[in-house]
Amino acid sequence: MPSKLAIAGGKPVLKRADYKNWPVITDDDRKLVNQVLDSGVVAGGTAPQVVALEKEWAEFTGSKYCLTTCSGTAALHMALAAVDVGPGDEVIVPAYTFLATASCALHQMAIPVFVDVEPKTFTIDPAKIEAAITERTKAIIPVHIQGCPADMDPILDIAKKHNLYVIEDACQAHGAQYKGRMCGTMGHAGAFSLNNLKNLCGGEGGLYVTNDTDFLKKGDLVRYFGDEADEKTLRQKYNASILGYMYRNQELPAALARGQLKHLDELNGIRIRNAEFLTTELSKIPGVIPPCCPPDCKHVYWFYATRFDPKATGIDTEPRRFRIAVEKALHMEGVMVGQWQVMPVPAQDIFQSKIGYGKGYPWTINEAQGISYDYNPDNFLVARMLCDTYTNIHGFTPPNGLDLLERIIEGFHKVFDNLDEAMEHADDDITPGFDGAMYGVG
Ligand SMILES: *Cc1c(COP(=O)(O)O)cnc(C)c1O
Repeated sequence: MPSKLAIAGGKPVLKRADYKNWPVITDDDRKLVNQVLDSGVVAGGTAPQVVALEKEWAEFTGSKYCLTTCSGTAALHMALAAVDVGPGDEVIVPAYTFLATASCALHQMAIPVFVDVEPKTFTIDPAKIEAAITERTKAIIPVHIQGCPADMDPILDIAKKHNLYVIEDACQAHGAQYKGRMCGTMGHAGAFSLNNLKNLCGGEGGLYVTNDTDFLKKGDLVRYFGDEADEKTLRQKYNASILGYMYRNQELPAALARGQLKHLDELNGIRIRNAEFLTTELSKIPGVIPPCCPPDCKHVYWFYATRFDPKATGIDTEPRRFRIAVEKALHMEGVMVGQWQVMPVPAQDIFQSKIGYGKGYPWTINEAQGISYDYNPDNFLVARMLCDTYTNIHGFTPPNGLDLLERIIEGFHKVFDNLDEAMEHADDDITPGFDGAMYGVG
């Protein structure tokens, strides 16, 4: 006999205390953070933890150079500035991503041009890139979203053919690989985030990588006021040569990131094992579409995004309404689910009303020439469909193990065995999602 859903007054499968939080703190973190506290050196572009992190991340990724910075967003901005993206240039970005992928173009007074994504991987659809290229296009930013590598070979070919820079947004893809190559290192520059949610965590922070000495130098200038240090004395010149920002990292976050890096492969391994377990089990439930890992790739599962298809369950309802009903029922069972992005990025108010530097700028640079920018969400139907139908399953991150995942699967079976009951509660006033503590957010 099917048991009563928690949303209808039954007993939940799980409780919050069954979940263990991310990040996993070890004695390596404590040792390195204490080293900073004992040394009394807490900041500085050439301070020991910052420099060591740069060296270790360059080694880990096989990149020639690395600069650590205060955020993944700063790393993206440094990359666009390094390749000279400027006012009125167009930058191609996927329609499903985090805002920073697109807003970093605005920071350079360039214009984001969105391209729809692939339904299986949520990554930019290479087949749709060329239609978006104009004489003003300067760069493409593929995003290795959720830890899933974007399809880089066709993207790199298109970029070569049209003479475009490729900046990889690898903010969610530490250690992910595309056909044996490390994500973040295949283009002209790559950006990683060290924020608390990401696979490699420093609390906050970012990593900028490149193999090109010019892009290293320009990135470094942008990172610190456009002002160089004297090569001999290592003192600032206090003579800025370009417009820069204050994007430095600090010793404490760098030390934490170094401690975390010692365990990155091991923790990614647990993520992958856990994700693959979920995928095997969820594939057995009609109407559940687990994430996929493209061939010859290493997906590092920053988040685990699952989709739902009501048709496969025999429930006659809108996909969006079905997803919401299932999310609410799972949430009440104690299965931690919820969306991250809720709409395609071009549908956000900032693009709908074109608010950049004041109203309309930088778009007006080209609009004055009769060029128009259409951010109609109907142009990004795959991204919209994904936003209607996906949810993230939390709790697959280490130190959680298969014992928790088995119960999560039990929760899914319970809900999918009682879909009629779940649908009756589709309008209940319930807000699914993870609480901040799950990912170390205060
Ligand atoms: C996290 C993230 C960023 C920004 O990183 P921050 O360190 O938070 O600035 C950029 N792009 C994507 C895809 C991200 O997930």
